[in-house]
Amino acid sequence: MHEYSDFRSDTVTRPTESMKKAMAEAVVGDDVLGDDPTVQKLEAMSAERMGKEAALYTPSGTMANSIAVKAWTRELEEVIVEARAHIYNMESTHMTFISRVTPRSLQSNRGAMDPEEIERNIRMPSVHIPRTSLICVENTHNNWSGAVVPMDNLKAIREIADKHELMIHFDGARVFNASTASGIPVKEYAAIGDSLMFCLSKGLSAPVGSVLVGPKEFIAYARRVRKVLGGGLRQVGVLAAPGIVALTEMVGRLKEDHERAKKLALSLHEFPGISLNPDAVQTNIIIFGFDHPTLSIPEFLAKMKERRVLALATTGGIRFVVHKDIDDEDIDRAISAFRNFLAQ
Ligand SMILES: *Cc1c(COP(=O)(O)O)cnc(C)c1O
Repeated sequence: MHEYSDFRSDTVTRPTESMKKAMAEAVVGDDVLGDDPTVQKLEAMSAERMGKEAALYTPSGTMANSIAVKAWTRELEEVIVEARAHIYNMESTHMTFISRVTPRSLQSNRGAMDPEEIERNIRMPSVHIPRTSLICVENTHNNWSGAVVPMDNLKAIREIADKHELMIHFDGARVFNASTASGIPVKEYAAIGDSLMFCLSKGLSAPVGSVLVGPKEFIAYARRVRKVLGGGLRQVGVLAAPGIVALTEMVGRLKEDHERAKKLALSLHEFPGISLNPDAVQTNIIIFGFDHPTLSIPEFLAKMKERRVLALATTGGIRFVVHKDIDDEDIDRAISAFRNFLAQ
């Protein structure tokens, strides 16, 4: 049994034995000088997997998203984002800080923005107002409890983008979870975006890193932006090596996370004070409202911690994330802790 059942995030996943071995044995070079063969292999694999011309390894998903926005926009421009999007809420406003563009946020149906509303929010050319240049989509949608944004919706957004000559950046931090849940190949999701970012460091369990994919010229420019942001790393093959293992060995097991998350959601929604629709739990993230007569959310989470169950508060409630290092015993421990504190 794990010392703690850590549901805070899928970023807490520890590297597998096979990842550690790959790290120890990685053949490395200087990636800033362009000769780290392990990074080159990861980038080539990623581009191939996503059906894009080129790829760039980055230290984090936030950096990959920051680079994408910087590369697709100029000052005096505006970016359409979904109101709860990670890129808009959880990345410390790099749009304004780094790219000097303004976000325009739209409401959505569980992460799916209305294409007609997008079209209405594309700015008319005018000296007074910014020019709309980019749309960002996210799938699965983190703050919508890991919702899978439907392909029909994404295709409709792509049509609007094409009609108005806008770019799309796809935040695919968990695109492999989306693909696992929907059965749609990641390439089809990647085809929606001019660029796409995915994380190796979440459910895929690599210790560090994300990958940005897109056209060759875009990636060449992205490489320069990464350097300016301090993301040019030297013998980084030691980190790319577990990334390769993540892509080759870890995608197939994501469905286990989804099954366990569903099991947990089906139990939790029965407890008084918890508002959760288990049907809305499609992948590995469970977000629920919490309303208790005496316990605040921080107090409740502190009590859960005494029972060795870790989770985080989020806007509108509490969030549990299921991942490789959560097994059936962890699920049972969480359910029994809930029962202990909430059963009437
Ligand atoms: C985690 C995450 C990111 C950023 O990844 P970091 O590596 O933590 O910077 C971007 N988008 C989404 C949807 C995420 O969940």
